[in-house]
Amino acid sequence: MADQVDDLRRAVAACRLCAAHLPNPPRPLAAFSSRARIVITSQAPGRLSHESGVPWDDPSGRRLRDWLGIDEGDFYDPQKVALLPMGFCYPGTGSSGDNPPRRECAPQWHGRIEEILPRERLTLLVGTYAHKSGLPRELGTTLEPRIRNALAVPDGPIALPHPSWRVVGWMKRNPWFADDVLPVVRERVAHALAAAGSEH
Ligand code: SF4
Repeated sequence: MADQVDDLRRAVAACRLCAAHLPNPPRPLAAFSSRARIVITSQAPGRLSHESGVPWDDPSGRRLRDWLGIDEGDFYDPQKVALLPMGFCYPGTGSSGDNPPRRECAPQWHGRIEEILPRERLTLLVGTYAHKSGLPRELGTTLEPRIRNALAVPDGPIALPHPSWRVVGWMKRNPWFADDVLPVVRERVAHALAAAGSEH
């Protein structure tokens, strides 16, 4: 299994599949191992992460870690947490924010990586692109019902809004998210981390 994981990591690092559509040479930012009990699927790295080479290396990442109740040590440990955005490379910025993740990326990589992840894992879908990919449409076509309905599915993926600066106003208008959702999210994350820790 270790060879398979290493091969996959090398293949991801060497990927140039959509290079012609990226504003910079590809710099895939994904992290995974065969032990990661938590999988965070999000949009795509932002400019700061592209420059540093560290995913979620920005205020959004700090907010996400706070929501999950997880420190940097665990968050950046691929033995515990897999980071699999819908697009592994920074897609550039348009007039209304970052461009969508490149559509070639998830079909190219997610299935192959999911094959080596533990069968029992907690998946967190962060932001609309990840929701659309990972949740059945019946759970809701807008953010609020999607978050609530996904949380009610036992052992299902958890849906979270994207933790960018835009979410600050949304959280003020939707206090139920901090009051009702985040405590459950933190409990499930802590449980998955404890399971990952017990295997070491
Ligand atoms: S975004 Fe994905 S598919 Fe495109 S070059 Fe980067 S790793 Fe490859």
